Amino acid sequence: MKVARRELSLMEKLYLPEIVRGLMTTIGHAIRPSHTVTRQYPEQPTPLPAGYRGIPALVTDEQGRIKCVACQLCEFVCPPEAIKIVPGQFSDSNVEKYPARFDLNMLRCIYCGLCEEACPEEAIFMSDVATFVVSSREQAVLPKERLLEIGGARPDPIGKWASK
Ligand code: SF4
Ligand code: SF4
Repeated sequence: MKVARRELSLMEKLYLPEIVRGLMTTIGHAIRPSHTVTRQYPEQPTPLPAGYRGIPALVTDEQGRIKCVACQLCEFVCPPEAIKIVPGQFSDSNVEKYPARFDLNMLRCIYCGLCEEACPEEAIFMSDVATFVVSSREQAVLPKERLLEIGGARPDPIGKWASK
C-alpha cells in the first residue's frame, strides 16, 4: 500500500530553524553548571549498574576447589568461540573431570553471558571487573589461573565434591 507523504512547509524545507534549535539545546546543556561530569578516573571509578556484565570468571567453592567439570558446554554455546578447554581426568576422586586448561580470549568475548547461562555447575560467572588492560594480543587470552583469581570463591549449592 502506498503511503502518502506530507508536504513539508517552507520552514521545514530550510532546515535552518531546526539546526538553530538543536544548537541552542547543546549550548544550554554546555553552560549549565550542574552538568559537570568530569570524573577523576581511575582514582574515582565509574559506578557500575546492577547486573553489569564484566569479564567472565571461573569460581571455586568455599574450600578453594574448582567448580568447573570441563563439560565444555560453555565452549559449545559461546557465539564467538572465545573459550578453549582441555579437560583433565581425576583418578582418585568422585569427581571425574576438571579443566586442565581453560583459556578465555577477551579479544573475542562479547560479554553476552551465555557461558554463565549454560553452565550446569555454576562454575562461571560474569564478574564486575570492567577494566581490562593488556599490551599484546597474547595477554588478552586469560588462562584458568587468572580467571579463578578474578572469580574467587562462591557458595556451592551443587556439591559435586560431596562423596556419593
Ligand atoms: S560472555 Fe559470551 S562471548 Fe564471552 S565467553 Fe561467555 S559466552 Fe563467550
Ligand atoms: S565452566 Fe561450566 S559449562 Fe564451562 S566447562 Fe566448566 S562446568 Fe562446563
